[in-house]
Amino acid sequence: MSDRPIESDVPLYRAHLDQIPDERKGGELTLSGEILASKLWGEEFSGSEVFFSAGLFRQGTDVLVRSEIRYKVNIECVRCLAIFPVSGELTERSLFIHRKKGGPTYPENEQYENDGWIDLFPWIRELILVSLPEYPLCREDCLGLCEVCRKSLNDGGCICPS
Ligand SMILES: [Zn+2]
Ligand SMILES: [Zn+2]
Repeated sequence: MSDRPIESDVPLYRAHLDQIPDERKGGELTLSGEILASKLWGEEFSGSEVFFSAGLFRQGTDVLVRSEIRYKVNIECVRCLAIFPVSGELTERSLFIHRKKGGPTYPENEQYENDGWIDLFPWIRELILVSLPEYPLCREDCLGLCEVCRKSLNDGGCICPS
């Protein structure tokens, strides 16, 4: 296990095994904060907001994480290509299991490596991505784009002859 010092720019969503209390001793480590969505998914998501709060405790070398996530993510309408916000709230839990070098993988669980760092970032990212609509529509009856001039037909339409 590495004992390198915690760097000042270590993000809020990481914790080291040594910081996480064992279930038998009671208590839990809390991580919370805002994730810059542009960091999660790239600049096209700038303006998105992701807040999370997580409680972590150990069961031996396994780490149980309970997480509450609130997000407002800007995504693109599949019909008119307008960017619009989708909001959601998630409450999830997962067991993070130690993965030994060359050891078995456990696809049903999250894992952490030999260095003892639990990184919630990929997990939270995946939870949000999976919860987003597969075919996002800015509104139920979105009219899409004009096939000729590619203008959105939602705001009064275009002047193309029909
Ligand atoms: Zn639309
Ligand atoms: Zn048109």
